[in-house]
Amino acid sequence: MERIGVVGAGTMGRGVAQLFAEQGHQVVLVDVADQILESARAEIGREVRFARLLRPGAPTRVPEEVVGRIAFTTDLTEVRQVDFLFENTIENWDLKRSLYGKLDFLCAPGVPFGVNTSAIPITRVASATGRPDRVIGTHFMNPAPTKPTVELIRGHHTSDETLALIQGLLDRTGKRHIVVKDSPGFVTNRVLMLTLNEAIFLLHEGVSGAAEIDRLFKECFGHTMGPLETADLIGLDTVLFSLDVLCDSFDDPKYRPCPLLRKLVDAGILGRKTGQGFHHYDDTHRNDDTQESGDRRYE
Ligand code: NAD
Repeated sequence: MERIGVVGAGTMGRGVAQLFAEQGHQVVLVDVADQILESARAEIGREVRFARLLRPGAPTRVPEEVVGRIAFTTDLTEVRQVDFLFENTIENWDLKRSLYGKLDFLCAPGVPFGVNTSAIPITRVASATGRPDRVIGTHFMNPAPTKPTVELIRGHHTSDETLALIQGLLDRTGKRHIVVKDSPGFVTNRVLMLTLNEAIFLLHEGVSGAAEIDRLFKECFGHTMGPLETADLIGLDTVLFSLDVLCDSFDDPKYRPCPLLRKLVDAGILGRKTGQGFHHYDDTHRNDDTQESGDRRYE
C-alpha cells in the first residue's frame, strides 16, 4: 500500500484523505491549524459511519480504523516519506507557487504531485517545481469519496510514466478517470463556472429567487442539484477564485465574477462550509440535504 500525502484539509482535502484511507493506505493530512484538522477528523469519522446510508452498497468500514490510518498534522515536513502527494490548498496561485517549492524540496524526486485545482493551469504549477514531468492535474469531484470519476489533466511536461502511476493508483482506488489537455479550468470548470456565475447574475438581477433557479434545473432538466446549490457545495470563495483565474488566464470579461458573489465572499458567507450560502444549512455536514431558502434576495 502506497503512503499518500494530502496537503490542505478543507472541503476537498478531507475527502481525498478519506478516500485513500478507506482503501487501506496510510495518509498524512496537512493543514495550517489544529482546529481545521480536528474538524476534518470529526467529519471523516462521521462520513465513514454514515457511508452505508449515503452510499448504498458501500462496504462497511470501521470509522476508527479509517481515521486511524490518517496522521493529522500541521508539520509539512511529514510528507517526506510519501509515495504520492495530492495538493488541495486554496485556489490561489501565489500560495500554491510558494507551497510547491517547499514540497519539491521535501518529497523524493520521483514522487508524483497530483494538483487538485479548479482552474489553475497544470503547466504553471509544474513550473514552480524541479519535477515538471511528475506534476499532473487530479481534479477530484466533490465529495471525493463518492464521485466516481476524476478529471486528469496532462501538463506540457507530464510524462507517460506519471500518467500511468496516477491511473494505476486511481484504478486500485475504484475511481474512473478521463484525461484532458491542459487549459485554464480544463473541461469541467470552464463550463461549470460560467454557468454558476450566470445563475448568480440572475439572482442578483432579481429575475428569479434562489429556490426557483435551482428547482428549474432539477425539475426541468433532471439535474440532481441546481447551480446555486452546486456553488454552495463547492464553496463560494472557491467559485470566486476560480472565476478570477479564468478571467485573468483568458483575459476575457465573460468570466467576470458577479458582484453579488464577491459581496457574499467578503461577508464570509461561503456556502455549506459556513452553514449559509444561497441556501441555509443546519450544519456543515457535506451530505446534508439542502434547506431551501424560499425567495430570499441578496442585494
Ligand atoms: P477549502 O478552502 O475548503 O480548503 C483549503 C484548505 O487549505 C484550508 O483548510 C486551508 O487552511 C488549507 N491551506 C491553506 N494554505 C495551506 C498551506 N500552506 N498548507 C496546508 N494547508 C493549507 O478549499 P477546497 O474547496 O478544499 O479547495 C481546495 C482546492 O481544490 C482548490 O484549489 C480548489 O479550487 C480545488 N477544488 C475544489 C473543489 C470544490 O468543490 N470545493 C472541487 C475540486 C477542486
